[in-house]
Amino acid sequence: MTKKVLVVTEIKDQELRQVSFEALAVGHELSAGGEVVAVLLGENVDNLTTQLFHYGADRVVTVNDEKLKDYTTDAYQQALLQVIDKESPEGIILGHTSIGKDVSPRLAMKLEAGLISDVTAIESEEGEVIFTRPLYSGKAFEKKKIKEGIVMATIRPNNIAPLEVDESKTGDVTPVSVDIKDIRTIIKEIVRKTSEGVDLSEAKIVVAGGRGVKGTEGFKPLQELARVLNGAVGASRGACDAEYCDYSLQIGQTGKVVTPDLYIACGISGAIQHVAGMSNSKVIVAINKDPEAPIFDIADYGIVGDLFEIVPLLTEELKKV
Ligand code: FAD
Repeated sequence: MTKKVLVVTEIKDQELRQVSFEALAVGHELSAGGEVVAVLLGENVDNLTTQLFHYGADRVVTVNDEKLKDYTTDAYQQALLQVIDKESPEGIILGHTSIGKDVSPRLAMKLEAGLISDVTAIESEEGEVIFTRPLYSGKAFEKKKIKEGIVMATIRPNNIAPLEVDESKTGDVTPVSVDIKDIRTIIKEIVRKTSEGVDLSEAKIVVAGGRGVKGTEGFKPLQELARVLNGAVGASRGACDAEYCDYSLQIGQTGKVVTPDLYIACGISGAIQHVAGMSNSKVIVAINKDPEAPIFDIADYGIVGDLFEIVPLLTEELKKV
C-alpha cells in the first residue's frame, strides 16, 4: 500500500545536512510509490528546496518563521505538529541527530505513533518496511516493523545511501505558516566548540585520538591527517577526561556514535565503551604501540608502533596521492 511520508530535514550553516538526503531515501522506500514530502523549517529556507527535489522529494513543505531560526524543542515540536496536522502523513522520518532524538519521541507521544529509533538499515518485505537497529552497543541487531498507525523512525547518519541525484526532478513547494507560542527557551548565543572542519557525526573519515596522544599538542598530527583526508577528528573519553580535547569530540557509549567509511584509532586501547561508538565503521585502522591492545580485535588493519612516528608518515604519503 502506498503511503504519504513526511521527511523532516535539517539545516546546518545554511546548508542541508547529509542525513536529510539519507532520510529521503528511507522516505522513498516507506512510501512504496506514494508521496515523499520534505519538511524544511527555518527562518529563510526557500533557497534550499531545489536540492531536496534532486534527492527524491516529490513535494517540499516550507515553514519560514523567525522562531525557527535556531532549534528549540517547543518551537520545532509545535511547528511540526501543525504541519503533520495539515498533511496527515502515514509515515514520518527524521535523522537520529540531536534534533531528531529530542523531537521525535515528543511527536510520537502526541500522535500516539510507534517510533523506531536509530535505524541503520531498511528492507521491504511483502509490502512492509522492516527497520534494523542496533542493540547492546552494536553487539546485536533487531528488526522491527510498525503494524498500525503512523510509522515513525529516526535514522542514524551515514548508514543508508541517499538516492542517486536527479537534477531534472522538480516539484511543488507548499509554504505553511504556523502559530508558535509559549516557547520556554530563548537562545541568546550559540558558542561553537568545534568550529572548523567536517561534522564528526556525518564524517566519512574519522581520525580519533586517545590517551596515547599524551596532550593537546599530541592531537596536532591527528588534525593534520584528518585535514589531508577531509575527515573529522574524534577522541576517546580517556583523552577528553585528561583535557587533551573537548568533550564534543568524544566517541562511545556516552559520546557520539559514528559510522564512517574509515576510522583511524590512534593511541586508543579499545575499551568496550569506546567501541560502542565506532564498531560499525566500515574499515577500522588501529595504531597502538601495545600489540595486546583490545582495539586490534575489531580492527581491519592494525599498525603496532608509536603514533607520533606513524601518523606523520601516513600524512606525508597521503599528501602525495
Ligand atoms: P587508555 O585505555 O589509557 O589507552 C591508551 C592507549 O594508548 C593504550 O592502549 C596505549 O598502548 C596506547 N598508547 C600510548 N602511547 C602510545 C603511542 N605513543 N603510540 C601508540 N599508542 C600509544 N570511553 C570512551 O572512549 N567513550 C565513551 O563514551 C565512554 N563511556 C564510558 C561510560 C562509562 C559508564 C564508563 C565506566 C566508561 C566509559 N568510557 C568511555 C571510558 C572507557 O572505559 C575507557 O576508560 C576509555 O575509553 C579509555 O580511553 P583510551 O583508550 O584513550 O585510554
